[in-house]
Amino acid sequence: MSFTGGTVAASAAALREGGVSPQELLAEARAQFERVDAEVGAVLTQTWELAERQAADAQRRLREDPGAASPLCGIPVALKDVLCLEGVACTAGSRILEGFHPPYTGTAVQRLLDAGAVVIGKTNCDEFAMGSSTENSAYRPVRNPWDRSRVPGGSSGGSAAAVAAGMVPYSLGTDTGGSIRQPAALCGVVGFKPTYGRVSRYGLIAFASSLDQIGPFAHTVEDCALVYSAIAGHDPRDSTSSPTAVEDPMETLRGGIAGMRLGVPHEYFGEGLEPGVRRAVEEALRVLEGMGATLDEVSLPSTGAALSTYYIIAPAECSSNLARYDGIRFGMRKEHDALLQMYLDTRGCGFGAEVKRRIMLGTYALSSGYYDAYYRKAQKVRTVIAEEFAAAFERVDALVCATSPTVAFPLAAREDPLSMYLCDVLTLPVNLAGLPGVSLPCGMADGLPVGLQVIAPRFQDARALRVAHAYEQATGWHRARSPLVEATA
Ligand code: GLN
Repeated sequence: MSFTGGTVAASAAALREGGVSPQELLAEARAQFERVDAEVGAVLTQTWELAERQAADAQRRLREDPGAASPLCGIPVALKDVLCLEGVACTAGSRILEGFHPPYTGTAVQRLLDAGAVVIGKTNCDEFAMGSSTENSAYRPVRNPWDRSRVPGGSSGGSAAAVAAGMVPYSLGTDTGGSIRQPAALCGVVGFKPTYGRVSRYGLIAFASSLDQIGPFAHTVEDCALVYSAIAGHDPRDSTSSPTAVEDPMETLRGGIAGMRLGVPHEYFGEGLEPGVRRAVEEALRVLEGMGATLDEVSLPSTGAALSTYYIIAPAECSSNLARYDGIRFGMRKEHDALLQMYLDTRGCGFGAEVKRRIMLGTYALSSGYYDAYYRKAQKVRTVIAEEFAAAFERVDALVCATSPTVAFPLAAREDPLSMYLCDVLTLPVNLAGLPGVSLPCGMADGLPVGLQVIAPRFQDARALRVAHAYEQATGWHRARSPLVEATA
């Protein structure tokens, strides 16, 4: 039996029944990686030796006490290359971090290691997670496993593609404005961005600290819930991580949606939505209704201001966060006798065009004289956006809409930065408000996957997963696999 393209839950069951060993799962992951990654480009750093040791350790744990072992024990995973793992190269997709080996492991990753995870490598991403296509990686673009002439989305494109191509059953990504949900939609997998503050950001290379959140990619909502359970929870090392207790999403996952009120935000069904995406999402709404949910149209009037708000706040935070890359402390250095010239040369060579654009935009928005006009105003609009979501959630339990206005687009199709920024119009309001959001497959348009987005109130992560799981189980789109998996299955 092959586990390539299979789920975490199936592998976990087989590991306990003795149908497979962690070493065999690892060998399958490696074989699939070797077969397809030259075409996909999902992985920047491979960690097979580490994975072998972890698999052997997991094998011991499963043998000694299979009941106590986490469902993730012995299962291969890939980590977005913005997540620190002690001693393993971490580039954030940037030249400026070439040669950087973090001296510590981030909390979310450590929790996976504690659960017995087997890490096969670090995945390709847009430089410092800035982008929506993974073409901003300083190393190489990632290609969509469904159609290699197209992008996988971004910025966690490598993590999404690694799952969609069957290299690993799950992966971790990060989402600042859509970087888990949008590539999940474009690659036909499930992606979950938890509530801001649910998962510790300690050991995550910061892009925009008030928006960044770590979350999983997998083939099913249940798998995402399993991973979320493992990584969520308070961490004293991240002052923004919430001390409130984490609800167990598995308890309510199968509760169904009969009697639930689902909101359909009409601003999310505007002109930019591709007809194929609209058709698939509208069909999904009918399915949800057929399952006993009531659909209510709701209004989020400031949606149109979210993009410009995000593109003030995120660059402002990025300009501050990226000030630390000066050639002294991390990664690459362009030597020069004059200190200032060393800074200039290092940053000039080390950062790519999009990162430089963001640093300039952010520095401008924060500069005295413009701070009130841009940054402070954006913060006020951010509050209004969060209040509008809160008002909607007084009437409905969750919101449903498309994740991405389009399906995967061809490489090099969006060279104009504004057209790239538009990829996230339907996801970034969720980050501005700190809400949990799931993207899951809901059909195909022009032979490419379409994603349905489920948004819940803050800290109602379990509810978002429950709605998504109910839809998934009623339809079966999650069983579709990219040609790269089918060819080997
Ligand atoms: N595409 C958005 C940006 O470029 C979001 C990226 C992300 O979520 N990391 O900022």
